[in-house]
Amino acid sequence: MSAYNNIESALIHGGIYGDEYTKAVNVPIYQTSTYEQSGLGEEFRWEYSRTGNPTRAALEALIAELEHGTAGFAFASGMAAITAVLSLFHTGDRIIISSNVYGGTFRLLDKVFNHFGISYSIEDTTDISSLEKKITKEVKAILVESPANPLLTVTDLAAVSRLAAKYDILSIVDNTFMTPYLQRPLELGADIVIHSATKYLGGHSDVVAGLVVVNDDKLAKQIAFIQNSTGGVLGPFDSFLLIRGIKTLGVRLDRHVENAEKAAEFLSRHKAVKNVYYPGLPEAQGYEINKRQAKNGGAMISFELYENYDIKKFFKSLKLVALAESLGGVESLVCHPASMTHASIPYEVRQQVGITDGLIRLSIGIESIDDILADIAQAIEESEG
Ligand SMILES: *Cc1c(COP(=O)(O)O)cnc(C)c1O
Repeated sequence: MSAYNNIESALIHGGIYGDEYTKAVNVPIYQTSTYEQSGLGEEFRWEYSRTGNPTRAALEALIAELEHGTAGFAFASGMAAITAVLSLFHTGDRIIISSNVYGGTFRLLDKVFNHFGISYSIEDTTDISSLEKKITKEVKAILVESPANPLLTVTDLAAVSRLAAKYDILSIVDNTFMTPYLQRPLELGADIVIHSATKYLGGHSDVVAGLVVVNDDKLAKQIAFIQNSTGGVLGPFDSFLLIRGIKTLGVRLDRHVENAEKAAEFLSRHKAVKNVYYPGLPEAQGYEINKRQAKNGGAMISFELYENYDIKKFFKSLKLVALAESLGGVESLVCHPASMTHASIPYEVRQQVGITDGLIRLSIGIESIDDILADIAQAIEESEG
């Protein structure tokens, strides 16, 4: 019997806990590139740190346990993780991506993987029956985010996974916005889970990292081979930082979400606000589906101000909430998707998928919610034209 049954405990005790040599309660930073072998042809566990490193292995075991997978893999960034997953595919293959996918994922397919003859199509993954019609024989995978960036669009992950299984193709979920604390796509039938661990898993805006989790031995072998062959691995120190960050994921997210629910309420009542996008609001697109597949609405909110508010002034007037790329750290951040995270998506495509120039994205931190809301309120006031 396991010593614990709940994810709050797994966050702290999961994976490889402590150090087998010294009984240190924390996994040490094994800052080494290579390991001495006992003799020619003799068995060894550790060989070279691109192939395997004990600190990284502890993190990989931890994320696999948290996502209820069988194998985890740590990469130098979320994009390196996505690159490794896309390296499963071959010339002639096509990947379906959801229309609100992370800008970097779109750019990677549009500008890099197209060199290798791997194509993509952008589809509305919230509409399962129209999605099914887009599955031609070239399509080998469906890659979705739920809630998706930046309109917090919810996709039915179980339905997409069932559809992928029906056509014998892979369902891939970028679970960055939710983390396994709020949503576990493998349990809903997904084949591969990806994370930008730079965000909530790290949680302190001090490390760039990516993770992949699978629950199938054949896929695990393929990803391990790609990880070792392409080499975009996470270093021992950053692996340590992530293990450390993950220990407090539960308490951080509880506070993030509590704050976000209050902020979404505040924005939806504010006279300057035209639209609020937050999957935790009952009137939000996909509210019921999100409630079924995730613990709550998470802590990302997007909104639009009415046209008579000057959005440049709004950003300039914020004092506590910082204008920055990224999300998921303890500090509240704000960004302008059209010119920042999603700038690599052409203007016409942005308009089609609803990423307007007036859209503002908030990553609600764990500061006092009163301070966060006071800052947003004064910036809105300053920006009124
Ligand atoms: C940030 C992000 C990525 C890219 O991850 P990096 O760690 O920045 O390389 C991928 N997907 C989503 C949803 C993200 O937010």
